[in-house]
Amino acid sequence: MTLPVLGLVIPCYNEEEVLHETTARLIPLLGKMREDGLISDRSAIFYVDDGSRDRTWSLIEKLSGVHPEVCGIKLSCNRGHQNALLCGLMTAPGDVLISIDADLQDDLDAIPQMVRHYRNGCDIVYGVRRRRDTDTFFKRFTAEGYYKLMAAMKVDIIFNHADYRLLSRRAVESLSEYREVNLFLRGLVRLLGYPSAIVEYDRAERFAGESKYPLRKMASFAWQGITSFSIAPLRLITMMGFVVSIGSLALASWALIVKLLVHGAFPGWASTVVPLYFLGGVQLLSLGTIGEYIGKIYMESKGRPRFHVSQRLGQALQQDH
Ligand code: UDP
Ligand code: MG
Repeated sequence: MTLPVLGLVIPCYNEEEVLHETTARLIPLLGKMREDGLISDRSAIFYVDDGSRDRTWSLIEKLSGVHPEVCGIKLSCNRGHQNALLCGLMTAPGDVLISIDADLQDDLDAIPQMVRHYRNGCDIVYGVRRRRDTDTFFKRFTAEGYYKLMAAMKVDIIFNHADYRLLSRRAVESLSEYREVNLFLRGLVRLLGYPSAIVEYDRAERFAGESKYPLRKMASFAWQGITSFSIAPLRLITMMGFVVSIGSLALASWALIVKLLVHGAFPGWASTVVPLYFLGGVQLLSLGTIGEYIGKIYMESKGRPRFHVSQRLGQALQQDH
């Protein structure tokens, strides 16, 4: 069997503090895997600069000048982690691509294990967090709650798997056929259906810099995941409408009975005003939720490109283009 060419795809947004260390850890890892006869010596690292505002790109240029295996792909502006990752997957050559975050919170020892699974015939290998001790209670609670909520809505995602995964060339090519703008890669990959495996690992802390996923981005990403893979919220509205209709029927019958049986019943304002506000609230919420889906249709119908590459660097990319 010829040795597979491995590409490590790493989205970077304002990561000047971590790139030196990341490169210093990845290059020996690639060397070791080459020595062990796991991967070809044409294997490379692909940093995707997601429109960083700091010195990330100049660092990538410098690193690429020193290390032949370092390549760079620069997006024209910040398009978000999922788009940057997709861009890397669509641009990097190689028989097998592994996506990993720049801050190396994900354990590197899982990489050789993933490649072994690939060599045993798997097209997709999911990195799954065994424990999340290093995450804050809030992050762990919300993240795990989210995976459970997705499962309850019958969305097929793997519990505690984020974007640390291996994809074979065949899987990447199939992924490229999904044209959606509202990207939620960990859900899409589940639709590919090729043979897959799981590698468990412990998640470390970010060794420098701050998270590039503040709460606002995280919440919007979580909502993206739900709305691109499930129409459960729309069903919930239908259910709500159903329950409220039954409730109001019951209320009407009760009012009728009171009117007929009790003489001089005093009609309170609360029974009029409270349902009014309640229904107003339910209606607004429902309209908003439906609006969210219409917004998605609007964005998808334009079919705008998901990213633009403004520069490419490195040997592996020059050979290909
Ligand atoms: N990232 C990106 N574009 C963005 C935000 C983040 O490419 O707009 C990258 C970031 O550089 C990192 C990865 O996505 O490599 C994950 O981000 P981070 O580690 O900050 O997220 P967390 O681990 O805190 O969830
Ligand atoms: Mg991180």
